Amino acid sequence: MAVDSSPAALERLRAEALTCTRCPLAEGRTQVVFGVGDPSADLMFVGEAPGREEDLAGEPFVGRSGKLLDRLMSEELGLERSRCYIANVVKCRPPGNRDPRPDEIAACRPYLAGQLELIDPVVVMTLGNFATRLLLDTTEGISRLRGRAYPFGRGHLVPTYHPAAALRSGGEVMAQMRADLVRAKRLLAGAGGSGAGGR
Ligand code: URA
Repeated sequence: MAVDSSPAALERLRAEALTCTRCPLAEGRTQVVFGVGDPSADLMFVGEAPGREEDLAGEPFVGRSGKLLDRLMSEELGLERSRCYIANVVKCRPPGNRDPRPDEIAACRPYLAGQLELIDPVVVMTLGNFATRLLLDTTEGISRLRGRAYPFGRGHLVPTYHPAAALRSGGEVMAQMRADLVRAKRLLAGAGGSGAGGR
């Protein structure tokens, strides 16, 4: 019997997502923004939803927030995005960049659940309230949740601010994001991982 490898299963999940019509966001999208990166990454980032540039490019975090994420990843972890995996809570752009609605998050949840199961990262970094609340199953806000790691799957979840918050507020938020990335780096080092595929 053929053994199902993670990259092939992830590719099948992606193919399914590309034709998804489970929620009304399908009507307004240019492209489904499934996720990008190494299917066996030790580190996975989860954001909120694609914006205009992501909708056009079909790739998460390619706009201003993404440029900041790339910079922080490089400066604090010494990693390029190709060595991590990056996805969002919802895979299609909400009109006018409004917040994703509960029904949209619920409809899209199986795709994120599948990505987490197949990639099986050592560390998941959630970016902002939507991803953090969803994956920790809480209504608490990010500023109270960040600053520590939580057990998650076979590894850890490290919540941090959304890069858009750091772009808006700078200073302290940016410093706390950097500290959260260092927390993730230590957990990766403890697991013998570097961010590249490992387990
Ligand atoms: N903000 C997100 O949460 N995700 C993206 O992909 C881009 C901006």
